[in-house]
Amino acid sequence: MKTLGHWIGNRSVPGASGRFAPVHDPATGARTARVPLADVAEVDAAVAAARTAHRTWGTTSLARRTAVLFRYRALLEAHREELAALITAEHGKVRADALGEVARGLEILELACGIGEKLKGELSTEVSTGVDVAALRQPLGVVAGITPFNFPAMVPMWMFPIAVACGNTFVLKPSEKDPSAAFRLAELAAEAGLPDGVLNVLGGDRAAVERLLEHPDVAAVSFVGSTPVARHVHRTAVAHGKRVQALGGAKNHMVVLPDADLDLAADSAVSAAYGSAGERCMAVSVVVAVGESGDELVQRIADRTARLRVGPGDDPASQMGPLITREHRDTVASYVTSARAQGAEVVLDGTATRVEGHEDGYFLGASLLDRVPLDADAYRDEIFGPVLCVVRAASYDEAVGIVNASPWGNGAAVFTRDGGAARRFQLEVEAGMVGVNVPIPVPVGHHSFGGWKDSLFGDLHVYGNDGVAFYTRGKVVTTRWPDPADAGIDLGFPRTD
Ligand code: NAD
Repeated sequence: MKTLGHWIGNRSVPGASGRFAPVHDPATGARTARVPLADVAEVDAAVAAARTAHRTWGTTSLARRTAVLFRYRALLEAHREELAALITAEHGKVRADALGEVARGLEILELACGIGEKLKGELSTEVSTGVDVAALRQPLGVVAGITPFNFPAMVPMWMFPIAVACGNTFVLKPSEKDPSAAFRLAELAAEAGLPDGVLNVLGGDRAAVERLLEHPDVAAVSFVGSTPVARHVHRTAVAHGKRVQALGGAKNHMVVLPDADLDLAADSAVSAAYGSAGERCMAVSVVVAVGESGDELVQRIADRTARLRVGPGDDPASQMGPLITREHRDTVASYVTSARAQGAEVVLDGTATRVEGHEDGYFLGASLLDRVPLDADAYRDEIFGPVLCVVRAASYDEAVGIVNASPWGNGAAVFTRDGGAARRFQLEVEAGMVGVNVPIPVPVGHHSFGGWKDSLFGDLHVYGNDGVAFYTRGKVVTTRWPDPADAGIDLGFPRTD
């Protein structure tokens, strides 16, 4: 069993708090590592390293900053497989899924490599006689990122590549459940030439987060995790005068209209509901089946779901790996039981699934619930596991009404062949990311990712232009080089003429 250290000032620093959290291989249940849980002094040390580094990194030329990022990209490309294996070993997701996660993280790093284009500012000449106005964007200083277990590499990469490209320094607090990918990302950044203290990674739990939220030298906080914690992080960081974006949980609906291609819809629902064992914030967790084709759709989803192969993530035959912890597996399973008691039809019950040779792994088969009442716990809560709820609606309007009544608004999708209906849906649905015949509409790196309502607290989404805006602050410079002959006192308010 390895003991991890914090990553501060480009070196591994042993934990000093005396507190550790165990890290498990969810496919076997074996404890594989322990991660230190930072106390106030350790958080302060990481922030101090970042603060010192910012003095030089913040004024390092764009050319030098991006040269490091280009080298980093090449290194990550070369270490794709290794990173994916680390993700699988601690998160459990299957190898193809883990490789996809690394690829989507690289997308943001690629955006960061071209940050010069985003930071080039604006200039208006001769706004008044002899007067020019320039708009610049400058880094904030030290920024913090707090990330969830379900994308241990990609979500950190939504944040720090853009933050450091903009000239900030970063303190990352990844999930204590699967922290190794984040530490490896930081080591590789150092190998690429990122100077000491520009990217620091702390092992830690709630205590480390609380210190980051109140630390006077942390200018901004990016958070991704569950809704209750996102709400708390937003409130606390704002109260301490920080800029904050806090992305929360989700319950993503996929509306299938009667004219949709039912095979495409069934394939998409199964992929989006059970991929990564349902532990994705953009997972489809509710299918809203509209009209009479609902029975046929449920049948086709069930046929496909029953054939899914559950097993360890490093077995190429597995399509769905284990859940993150035993407790979470049991909580997810309890929703199938409660849904049955609360009036849902259990079409497939995956709770008894066992994987031979991996009896201590945290596996759960896929479950499919039909006609789930809107007041059932399985519909109301974010389950975050391989349980797909189907609800029925008689019309488009009823379906959109159901989606918009949800407290969350991360992603929403419509499946149809009717362009007019799809157009109405994209305008009327209350969600930040919308898919038309696309079940998981995660925007590409040069757009921005973010939900509405209880799926995001703050205003700016992550990465893309919003990411750049979040990690920089605007400054407007008004300049005049007067002819000495024009000098004179004028107490009137400056006019533009
Ligand atoms: P979580 O909220 O339990 O933890 C997220 C981070 O916050 C971790 O680093 C954790 O150590 C820390 N944390 C946990 N409890 C805390 C507390 N009480 N005070 C301060 N910090 C705390 O989330 P998770 O279980 O790791 O991740 C799953 C959740 O994240 C799901 O709800 C999922 O929808 C959400 N998520 C959202 C997005 C998005 O983009 N909206 C993306 C990925 C995951």
